[in-house]
Amino acid sequence: MYGRALSCALLSPTTRCTIPQLIRYFARTAAAGAQQDVTTAQLPEISQYFQKALPHQEVYDLSLNNPSAFWGSLARTRLSWYRDFDDVIDCDMTKAKLKWFINGKLNVSVNCVDRHYMKTPDKVAIIWEKDEPGQQENVSYKQLYEMMNQLANTLKSHGVRRGDRVCIYMPMTPLAVAAMLACARIGAIHSVVFAGFSADALTSRINDAKAETVITADQVLRGGKAIDLKSTVDRAVLDCPCVRQVFVAQRTGAPVSMGQMDMPLESEMAKQSTECEPEVMGSEDYLFMLYTSGSTGQPKGIAHTQAGYLLYAAITHQTVFDYREGDIYACVADIGWITGHTYVLYGPLCNGATTVLFESIPTYPDPGRYWEMVERLRVNQFYGSPTAIRLLLKYGDSWVTRYDRSSLRVLGTVGEPINTEAWEWYHNVVGNGKCDIVDTWWQTETGGICIAPRPSRVAAPIIPGAAMRPMFGIAPAIVCPDSGKEFTGNDVYGALCIKLPWPGMARTIYGHHNRYVDTYFKPFQGYYFTGDGAHRDKDGYIHITGASAFDEWTTVLFNSRRRHRLGTAEIEDSMDEHGGSDVAWAPAGCAGIPHPVKGEGVYAFVTLMEDVQKDTDEIITELKSMVKKQIGSFAAPECIQITPGLPKTRSGKIMRRILRKIAANRGDELGDVSTLADPSVVPMLIANHAPIE
Ligand code: ATP
Repeated sequence: MYGRALSCALLSPTTRCTIPQLIRYFARTAAAGAQQDVTTAQLPEISQYFQKALPHQEVYDLSLNNPSAFWGSLARTRLSWYRDFDDVIDCDMTKAKLKWFINGKLNVSVNCVDRHYMKTPDKVAIIWEKDEPGQQENVSYKQLYEMMNQLANTLKSHGVRRGDRVCIYMPMTPLAVAAMLACARIGAIHSVVFAGFSADALTSRINDAKAETVITADQVLRGGKAIDLKSTVDRAVLDCPCVRQVFVAQRTGAPVSMGQMDMPLESEMAKQSTECEPEVMGSEDYLFMLYTSGSTGQPKGIAHTQAGYLLYAAITHQTVFDYREGDIYACVADIGWITGHTYVLYGPLCNGATTVLFESIPTYPDPGRYWEMVERLRVNQFYGSPTAIRLLLKYGDSWVTRYDRSSLRVLGTVGEPINTEAWEWYHNVVGNGKCDIVDTWWQTETGGICIAPRPSRVAAPIIPGAAMRPMFGIAPAIVCPDSGKEFTGNDVYGALCIKLPWPGMARTIYGHHNRYVDTYFKPFQGYYFTGDGAHRDKDGYIHITGASAFDEWTTVLFNSRRRHRLGTAEIEDSMDEHGGSDVAWAPAGCAGIPHPVKGEGVYAFVTLMEDVQKDTDEIITELKSMVKKQIGSFAAPECIQITPGLPKTRSGKIMRRILRKIAANRGDELGDVSTLADPSVVPMLIANHAPIE
C-alpha cells in the first residue's frame, strides 16, 4: 500500500535522489528485523536495492531539501505503525512547536521487541556484561519480551496508567532495560535517574517529575563494590509526597528493609502473564524524560516523544556505527544518561541488534576490562567516552594489546571533546589503525547523534578530534554571538545552532516549557541554540570548541590590533599533548578570566599524575611553552593552578561553570553543586586559587 504511494508521491523535486534509491541506501546495512514489518510488507522487495550505495551528499541534500519525503519514507519503512501518519512535519522553530508524524499511532516496545521476537525469538537482544569480571548473561528477544510484559503487567496491576511518570533508579541490569520498555508498553513516561546520584538529587528529580512509582534494586555493583540503592531511595522518598509505591529488585540479594510502600519486584512479576497488550500511542505522546548531567547549570528534565525519537535513534545507530545484521554492538554508557537510552537501548533494539549492557567500570578488575570484553564477546562497535579513554591511556598500551581486537570496526566517543592524544591512542593502539573513529557530538536535547565523521558511504577522511559532518536532516549554523547573524562562509567561529527541525529533537523541558523556549529558541530567533561553540574549518567541517558558547570562549588580544576567539577545548588539547613517555599531567580544564590588557585571559587547572617527580614550576613553564608552540603565545594561560582534582559531574564531565567562578575568584557564587561526583574538590580549588600574573 505505502510502497506505491511513496514511490509516486514522494519523489524529491529538488534533488536527484529518488525514494527507491533512498530505501536502498538505508536498507543496505539495515537490520533484517527492521525492514519487513506489517506496514512495509507491500513495499518493493527492499533487497533488490542492496547492491549499490548512493553518494552521501545526495542523500544528505534530500534530507534537507525534502525532509517530509526523507523522514516520511524512513518512518514507514523502518517503524511499525498501528495507524499511518497524515503528515510528516508540523514545526515552527520560532515558537518551539515541534510535531512529527502527525496522527500516527505506534508502540515503541513493539518496535524494539515484538517484531524481532516474532521473527528471531532466540536471537540475543542483550549481552549483560556483569560487574563480576568475565561473567556475562545473554537475554534473547523472547526472554526480553516476557520480562518486559511481566513488568508491564505488574505496573498496570498496581495502577500505573498511560502518561504516569515512573522513576527508574537501577543498576545496569536487563531488568532495568525491561523496566524502561515496560513503561513504553503501557504508555507511562520513564524518568531514569543514574544510580550513583545522592538521595537529595533523587528527591528533586522525583518531585520535579511528580512520579508516583519508583523502581529500584537492593544494591548496585560497581567495580566490585556494592552500594546500597534501596536505603538511598528510602531517604529520598521521605521528601517526595507524590510517591506511593516502590518496587525493589534484587541485584546482590543483600537484606533490605521493606516498608509499607515497598514491593519485591521479581515476586510481583512472577504473578503476571508474559503477554501484555501494548498501549496504542500517538507519535507525539511522551516516551521519557531525562535529566541532563548539570555540567552547565540546574539539571533540566528533557522530554522526548515516541516516533520521531525512535526513528532518529535507529537511523543514527545504523549509519554512524555502520551497524550490520549479526554485529555485536557495545555502547558502555550507563542507561542513566541519554547515550544509554539512545545507543544502548532504543536505537540498537529498534534495529534488532545484539546490544551489550556494561555494568562495570573501565578499570575493574584492571585497565584491560574493556578490551578483554571486546575479545570475549567479539565486539564490532565500541562506543565510550573521552574521559575513559584518557584514563586508560595513562595505564599504557599493554593492557590493550594483550587482547584480540580484530573484531572491532568502529570506535566512537561522546560527551566531551576528545583531545588529539587520546584520539590517536584510540585509533592507533585500540583500533590498531584500522577502525573508523567517530567523535559524535550531540546532547540529551537532540535525542541522537547530530554531528559525526560518519555517515559517509565512502572511506572519506576523518580528522582527529573533530565531529565533522552533520547527520541526515541536521543543518548546522555557526552564528555570531554578538550580531545573531549566521556566518555563511568557512573558517568561522561562533555559537553552534541548528536551523531546521529534526525528528529526534526534544519537545520540551518537562513541566517547564517556557524554560525550554527561552534556553534553546530565544537566543537566536528561528534557530535551535545548542549552547555550544563551534568552528567550521576552511573545508567546511565542524569542530566543537567547548560547551556553553558564550562562557567557554576566551577572546584574547593576539597582537596590538586583532582579537582572537578561542575555544577552551583548543587550549586544553594543546596542554594534553605532552608527547613521549614523559607523562606528568592529566587533562586540564580552562576558563576565561578578565585581563587588563588582553580583555580576557586564560586560567588553567591541571591535575598531575600520581607519581610525578618534577618540580611544579618546571611543569607550569613547560605547559605554557606547549600552548605557545601549538597555538601561539597569545593563548598561553596567565595562570596555572595545579590541583589534585577537577569538579566533575557523575557522568565524568568537568563542571565548567565552577571552574569559571573559581578562576574569577568568585567561589562564593557557585550555585547548585549537588550533581558533583566529589564536592570536596571545590573548597580545595578555592583555597589554592593562584594569583593572576
Ligand atoms: P547540562 O545540560 O546539564 O549542562 P550536559 O551538558 O552534561 O548537562 P548532556 O546532554 O549530557 O548534557 O551533554 C551534552 C553536551 O556534551 C554538549 O552540549 C557538549 O557540550 C558536550 N558534548 C557532547 N558530545 C561532544 C563531542 N563529541 N565533542 C565535544 N563536546 C561534546
